[in-house]
Amino acid sequence: MKKQWDLLLGGRWVSTEDPFEVRSPYDNSLVAEVSRASSARMDEAVDLAVNGFELTRNLSSYERSRILETASSAIAHRSEELAKIMSLESGKTIRDARVETARASNTFKIASEEAKRIGGEYISLDWIEGSKGRFGITRRFPLGPVLGITPFNFPLNLVAHKVAPAIAAGNSIVIKPASSTPLCSLVLGEILLEAGLPPESISVLPAKGSLAETMVRDDRFKLFTFTGSCDVGWRLKSIAGKKRVTLELGGNAAAIVDEDAPLEVAAEKCVRGSFANAGQICISIQRIFVHNSVYEPFIQMLVTKTKGLVLGNPLEERTDVGPLIDGSAVEKTEAWVKEALASGARALTGAARRGSIYEPTILVDVRPDLKVSCCEVFAPVVVVDRFSNIVEAIAKANDSTFGLQAGVFTHNLDAAMKAFELLEVGGVVLNDVPTYRVDHMPYGGVKDSGLGREGLKYAIEEMTELKLLAVNSKS
Ligand code: NAP
Repeated sequence: MKKQWDLLLGGRWVSTEDPFEVRSPYDNSLVAEVSRASSARMDEAVDLAVNGFELTRNLSSYERSRILETASSAIAHRSEELAKIMSLESGKTIRDARVETARASNTFKIASEEAKRIGGEYISLDWIEGSKGRFGITRRFPLGPVLGITPFNFPLNLVAHKVAPAIAAGNSIVIKPASSTPLCSLVLGEILLEAGLPPESISVLPAKGSLAETMVRDDRFKLFTFTGSCDVGWRLKSIAGKKRVTLELGGNAAAIVDEDAPLEVAAEKCVRGSFANAGQICISIQRIFVHNSVYEPFIQMLVTKTKGLVLGNPLEERTDVGPLIDGSAVEKTEAWVKEALASGARALTGAARRGSIYEPTILVDVRPDLKVSCCEVFAPVVVVDRFSNIVEAIAKANDSTFGLQAGVFTHNLDAAMKAFELLEVGGVVLNDVPTYRVDHMPYGGVKDSGLGREGLKYAIEEMTELKLLAVNSKS
């Protein structure tokens, strides 16, 4: 793997005098040096995106679809290289990195299909007297240059969820990846240029987060799409001006295990949903609510399975749980767990660090107002609580400022329908964990967790403007 990386400025590789280091979250070894974008480079990138839009808006559905399909194949072709880079820069286990790479290829594949399906509507307008012979047709037009800012935890597929729908819709795009994980997005830039995307229409600018605020304010962008933490996301929305804004933010997702749930399956899925990617997934399970009647056997299974997880070097095939992204994330987790234990909580396993790794931790007897319960932990920590009926479980799950997804294990149709109707989230997953996501489903949050939806078809709607042509055919 190369050690020096340039940034991508409107299709041109540029090296700057201000490189920064990307280091392995696992052992702090140097992964690469990357050119950092200055404000002047960002301004240049916006100019290029404006020019690039004049090219992308005129591409046919066929041309957009072909570029996306070529990119999908190239990601699949380079999947092992991408997975290794991802594992090195983010600390994701190599097995999970392969899954993400396959998903990113699929995200582009779906976008290549959706690019051909951006349809419209026929609307009869002759509903009132005097409107005889009138009808309307609607069509979605590309919005214009898009700004995407992305987080560290899915450094390829969450960039794909911004770039692929932008291309499908006919927009140009500037991406600012997370500073800790810029490499996958730079490889993606390379792939897109080779796939035939007009060069001016794509920039990938590793940069300090705070410096990127000038781009968020820039009204040459017509849409700002952000994935990251709630604090940063809502603040950036407040300075984004009149452009459209999509926010994919954090959460403290809940799983509900009802009395008739298949316990072994639910426990297995909950372990994965709580501790995959060391809990650094926006829809990672942070709270599990278990029916009183099955609480004891369920928790035993959960603890046993959690103790069986292999912790260690993310590049090793057998590793289930790798490091947190950096030292401050480990320290924050330690402090929050200590606060819970000091307030009467009990740890059934974990509650300790091993260098850059925090042990998968199960907490019980946790007051709902403690940070490990009501704030986003973003680490391998899960809180387990009990309930006596589904209405109480739903109320407990809703006792949160967040609302991304919730999972409900039940075979009771009435309980399932109540959960669907009453849970305050963007998506309810029945008989699986809230961590379930496939890339074409509508995905996004309510309350503090965000605004708008991703999932290619839905992101394309956000990235296009609906326009009406009203026809008078009898003039
Ligand atoms: P973060 O700290 O909010 O950073 C996200 C991105 O915003 C990074 O590129 C960061 O750049 C940039 N940024 C930070 N401050 C900025 C500013 N003032 N102006 C412009 N850009 C700024 O989030 P993270 O720690 O990378 O990711 C974890 C968070 O993302 C969690 O809350 C997680 O739940 C959420 N997330 C949500 C979803 C979803 O789909 N809902 C998916 C994944 C993750 P730097 O890296 O340079 O600071």
